Amino acid sequence: GCELTLNSVTKVYSPGTEAEVRALGNITLNVEPGEFLSVVGPSGCGKSTFLQIAAGLIGASGGQVALDGHKVNGPPEGLVYLFQQYTRSLMPWRTVLGNVEFAIEGHRMSRAERRDRCMNFLAMVGLQDFASRYPWQLSGGMQQRVAIARALAAEPRILLLDEPFSSVDALTRSDLHELVLRLWEERGFTAMLVTHDVDEAILLSDRIAVLSHRPSQIVETIPTELPRP
Ligand code: ADP
Ligand code: ADP
Repeated sequence: GCELTLNSVTKVYSPGTEAEVRALGNITLNVEPGEFLSVVGPSGCGKSTFLQIAAGLIGASGGQVALDGHKVNGPPEGLVYLFQQYTRSLMPWRTVLGNVEFAIEGHRMSRAERRDRCMNFLAMVGLQDFASRYPWQLSGGMQQRVAIARALAAEPRILLLDEPFSSVDALTRSDLHELVLRLWEERGFTAMLVTHDVDEAILLSDRIAVLSHRPSQIVETIPTELPRP
């Protein structure tokens, strides 16, 4: 996994206008290689903003973001972002399998190899029988499972998760928690999860960063010491 560093990061939306929102106050945080860090905080405090800046999806207003010491200026290679809204991840014109295959489209391997690998990830989320369907033929929770299969198939070095489990039912959620944890342990990628669910944060992560109301600051970071399932 790679190391993510945020140094005095601030974010103001629409600065100098009536619509100005000071989202991030001053965020300094170091996520270690292979660490699983969760970010919790009240609704609207800037958790998604924080994650999108870490991913290079939007720019910060001040401060620096670096991945393995390299300044982040756009989505870096090896970084995978899982959106809360699966509708932002899946391409409606591609089948379920086609969506997962997209994650490794550039990889050098045969068509059959790519297909097998992606079918394997679909099986991990219990959707092997839906490979030839289209996303809109699936329920919301199933679509999110496809998005999760795709994120994992990409073999990220760092995985950023923006509440990806909130749209699935409780039973599926606990299966997906186990799957993500298992792959995280096997593959050693760095993971950062944004959630409003403190129990989920405790279950999944090594450390929890608690944000204040906006303009948010990190109030404290708490190591979790509970044994994993
Ligand atoms: P959280 O994920 O903690 O709910 P967000 O990062 O989504 O918080 O939002 C933080 C604040 O910034 C909120 O007040 C939100 O309305 C505002 N905000 C988020 N995105 C934008 C945007 N693109 N333009 C203007 N304001 C935004
Ligand atoms: P969350 O609380 O999970 O961040 P939101 O509903 O706040 O979800 O935000 C969903 C999306 O809308 C995010 O991409 C965010 O950047 C964007 N957004 C949120 N608030 C605003 C806003 N005031 N203006 C424009 N975009 C916004």
